[in-house]
Amino acid sequence: MFKITVIPGDGIGTEVIQSAVEILETLNTKFDFVYQDAGKDCYDKCGTNLPSDTIESCRISDATLFGAVTSIPQQKSAIVTLRRELDLYVNQRPIRSYEKEDINFTIIRENSEGLYANIEEDHGDECIATRKITYNGCERIIKYAFEYANKTNRKRVTASHKANVLPVTDGIFKDTFYNIAEAYKNIESDDYYIDATAMYLITKPEYFEVIVTTNLFGDILSDEAAGVVGSLGLLPSANIGDETGLFEPVHGSAPDIAGKNKANPIATILSSALMLEYLGINNEAELVNNAVEDVIKEGKVKTPDLGGNHNTNDITTAILQKM
Ligand code: ATP
Repeated sequence: MFKITVIPGDGIGTEVIQSAVEILETLNTKFDFVYQDAGKDCYDKCGTNLPSDTIESCRISDATLFGAVTSIPQQKSAIVTLRRELDLYVNQRPIRSYEKEDINFTIIRENSEGLYANIEEDHGDECIATRKITYNGCERIIKYAFEYANKTNRKRVTASHKANVLPVTDGIFKDTFYNIAEAYKNIESDDYYIDATAMYLITKPEYFEVIVTTNLFGDILSDEAAGVVGSLGLLPSANIGDETGLFEPVHGSAPDIAGKNKANPIATILSSALMLEYLGINNEAELVNNAVEDVIKEGKVKTPDLGGNHNTNDITTAILQKM
């Protein structure tokens, strides 16, 4: 039995998490789901958007399934804090088009430092955000990217950075990348500036296999990649550290469609499949992935973000039927 902390959050988070849990409950593997609070509703209720009980529960669980949370002005982001508290330094985002088979790559984003290191100063006229890049941070994320490429039979890892303008911080990133690449001669390695990567994601997305990049760049590239493959509602992600993993859709709480049963639950369902892979339950992960693929390719049941008029429950039921 696996212990899973479930954090629905708020907005569409609660709706899409319900779909994912419904699907996990039908599998042969049994889970002990422990529900915990975070996000805006939690803040309104108890004065914090991330209670310490929630962090502790994630720490002692085998994995965490996270919906989405709405950001609150002047409050630190719950998900960013959670990633840091649990030292989930890898953010793995598989990007796959179901229409064009050759668009299939993974963004490996550094998740613990960069511009999201939470070092901001307000000096009145002058406000400063510090971009923190460490050797250790670069080394562990780049090693992870090459190991991931090996494990998933990818032939190339591309580093994305801006070392021409940020020669110190991105200089470390680029140099570490090529040093580590030496140990992986079977995998091609190359690099692009982040702005060029952004363009090539549109003009030649099929070129990419694995992209490794720093925190903010990875965040922006992932949303761009969502546009390339169709919808934010399709993209899952894994946050992985040495002790545990947290799995969440790439999208946010989407307040514009919250509570309307319109959200596409696929990103969260695919995130739960990433969680199954992380836990080593590969056959059940494949079952879920294949069912999602069948429903998308069949195209009969689609939420509005994909041009259809079905609702969250309809998609969940269609996937369950395929399984
Ligand atoms: P965050 O900053 O928290 O990532 P965001 O401001 O980028 O959030 P999202 O909440 O991800 O924004 O939503 C961006 C747009 O995509 C919204 O118009 C939203 O309705 C749409 N969207 C996001 N997720 C889904 C989904 N699962 N199904 C359908 N539409 C979605």
